Amino acid sequence: MKDPLTDAARLERHRRLAAADHRHLWHPFTQMQDWLGEDPLIIDRGEGVELIDTMGRRYLDGVSSLWCNVHGHRVPELDEAVRAQLDRIAHSTLLGLASTASIECAEELVRHVPPALTRVFFSDAGATAVEIAIKMAFQHFQLRGDERRREFVSITGGYHGDTIGSVSVGGIDLFHRIFKPLLFDVHHAPQPYCYRCPLGKTLPGCAMACADAVEAIFAARPGQIAALVIEPLMQGADGMIAQPPGYLKRMRQICDRHGALLCCDEVATGWGRTGTTFAVEQEGVVPDIMTMAKGLTGGYLPLAATLTTETIFESFLGSFDSRRTFFHGHTYAGNPLGCAVATASMKLFRDRRIIEGLPARIGALARALAPLADHPHVGEIRQRGLMVGVELVRDRATKAEYEYPLRVGHQVCLEARRHGVLLRPLGNVVVLLPPLAMTVAQLEQLVAAARAGIDAVTARA
Ligand code: PMP
Repeated sequence: MKDPLTDAARLERHRRLAAADHRHLWHPFTQMQDWLGEDPLIIDRGEGVELIDTMGRRYLDGVSSLWCNVHGHRVPELDEAVRAQLDRIAHSTLLGLASTASIECAEELVRHVPPALTRVFFSDAGATAVEIAIKMAFQHFQLRGDERRREFVSITGGYHGDTIGSVSVGGIDLFHRIFKPLLFDVHHAPQPYCYRCPLGKTLPGCAMACADAVEAIFAARPGQIAALVIEPLMQGADGMIAQPPGYLKRMRQICDRHGALLCCDEVATGWGRTGTTFAVEQEGVVPDIMTMAKGLTGGYLPLAATLTTETIFESFLGSFDSRRTFFHGHTYAGNPLGCAVATASMKLFRDRRIIEGLPARIGALARALAPLADHPHVGEIRQRGLMVGVELVRDRATKAEYEYPLRVGHQVCLEARRHGVLLRPLGNVVVLLPPLAMTVAQLEQLVAAARAGIDAVTARA
């Protein structure tokens, strides 16, 4: 679509919007004092894997609009699915009623996950999906008469959303410490962060001592752990911390040995990001509970799902007055617009053979990144599929970090913008998380912009 505005009219509109943003909005995870002093980049439109701002400038969507966009923006099939659903109904409830769109979505969804996961509980965000998983696991054991199983294990550095339950199983000190008095107690296992091993060990000699540490928690609390909550293969929000191969499988074995549930949070890793539809597939692991959101709708609308097995579902069955009901639900659970676009997105996965096309893109991304490995200020490049973290360090030999106030990652992203790429860092880690639809040429442009940013910023930091 041609933008009919003149440059002057565009600028005036931008200034009006920017002033209103500064007056009324409170942005998530944003120091608003800084924000109020800057001219905001305002996204007005999208097209394919590009975002277009109020001034008509185009940028590659280098982090998939916060890790959720899959097929690009304004995808005809997805747009049409939303329009067609609008012609039927925008929303009706799942509490005591069924809806065509949610039934069709659930039916399609179970075709894409490990076959044991046959029950779909819908909600609207990653955090709510995890909240549901926690309460489901807890109530399952209570209903089974295993009342002592009420504790949770999670991994340091994990991130599962921002509600109080999901923060409780989270483990990012910077975000979560202030809320500690509000949280329930969770056993946090050492982070499988080989580059900075918290146990001071090295693979393969360590024989994954961090996994042994998880087992030690279970062994010390026999019969008391309800579930282990984990991001499979890659901890996203703490800086793309990639787990050593075999780690997730070990987690499954530990849960099995100790009678606990394995809850895999695929909110970030799901829908092709790591190279398979779900990350758990790469270790042949079937979780008891799996959470997803973000890419479920192709990144179009807020829809989340918590999937589980018939065994867990059956724990909740009983007569009305047995009160075994799962007393949990969100107004917009299974929103028909979200479900319709999710179904259309899943259909694209099949029709376009998206997963089959990933190895070429993943390989191209790896090749583009390879020269960065020798950069004097790149400590480590962690790539799982199309999820990448480039950890910047002041000194490679000592792994000394850049000081927090320097905002090195942020500076790199500002620089990348000048090269037509939008990124969002995690501390000193530059994150690349492109939509699965990015072409090889666009992936190369993405890496080139990140590299230009890294060069410019580390030269002066
Ligand atoms: N779990 C994981 C693994 C995530 O990465 C995120 C979001 N980054 C969430 C949960 C929370 O999702 P939401 O922001 O939709 O609540």
